Amino acid sequence: MDSPTLLFPQPDLYLQTRAGNRIPAHATILASVSPVLQNVIKSSNRIVKIHGVPDAAVTAFVAFLYYARCTEEDMHKYGMHLLVLSHVYMVKHLKQRCIKGLSDRVSTENVVDVLQLARLCDAPDLYLKCARHLTNRFKAVKETEGWRFLQNHDPCLELEILRFMEEHEKRKRKARKRREDGRLYTELSEAMVCLEHICTEGCTEVWPFDVEVRREREPCSMFGTCQGMQNLIRHFATCESVKRRCLRCKRMWQIFRLHSSICLRQDTCKVPLCSQIRLKMEQGKRKGDARWELLVRKVASAKAMASLALPKRKMVEESRREVP
Ligand SMILES: [Zn+2]
Ligand SMILES: [Zn+2]
Ligand SMILES: [Zn+2]
Repeated sequence: MDSPTLLFPQPDLYLQTRAGNRIPAHATILASVSPVLQNVIKSSNRIVKIHGVPDAAVTAFVAFLYYARCTEEDMHKYGMHLLVLSHVYMVKHLKQRCIKGLSDRVSTENVVDVLQLARLCDAPDLYLKCARHLTNRFKAVKETEGWRFLQNHDPCLELEILRFMEEHEKRKRKARKRREDGRLYTELSEAMVCLEHICTEGCTEVWPFDVEVRREREPCSMFGTCQGMQNLIRHFATCESVKRRCLRCKRMWQIFRLHSSICLRQDTCKVPLCSQIRLKMEQGKRKGDARWELLVRKVASAKAMASLALPKRKMVEESRREVP
């Protein structure tokens, strides 16, 4: 380090390191960056002891106090010591720099140490980063010296970490379930729109009686699932299975039932069985079918959300149709 005293007047105190080295410094500079040092200087005899960290870390600390700079090399070598010093002496900017620097350097080898330090130095973001790192690589971390030391000396923290990992797993499972459910509701809402498309406009193989027959047989360009849905409708119309026990009929029946539950067109709806099913459902309303009610609500809202994006799709569709 360049001597911090070059640009300043005669030093008026010394910082004494663990090894007994004395670094000359200026009371006004130290006091201006650290409220803790300000108090220490007032009550000391001009020698301020900074123990507990290597000498070179104290030198890097003083360099920051004077020049507000910390090299990558210093951060790499003394990041943890500097975090402690910045926390103890309340040097906010250095603390932020250390949190960022250590956060970028969290590894399987050092994660337990950095986590403990983050906890001691009240650095919640760094703590969280370490806890996540530890959770994601626990198999490797539990083989490290750091983890073994923690197990032997700090069972409370070990428990805290294990709890964090359990919570993290639970959150992940919930998020996965939400994503899967979301996909299901979206697929079903698309199926609902596709069904209305077939029963209202007609498509390649199925169309309503009052719509002109489309003779061209190219696949439907509006819905990837349209052909499958048309096959299902045709099957349902012609299947001879007793009481519709076949799987395809059951599936179609569920789709019709779901449609009826969310249909807003009521009497003008062209989807087969729409009003009959609704009537049947109203007459024999089964109490406590909460799962079905939830499904209906979710699909209805997914459909409403998708309809917000529909104008864009229709525009694309129309521009496609205009191309000769
Ligand atoms: Zn279609
Ligand atoms: Zn069938
Ligand atoms: Zn309907």
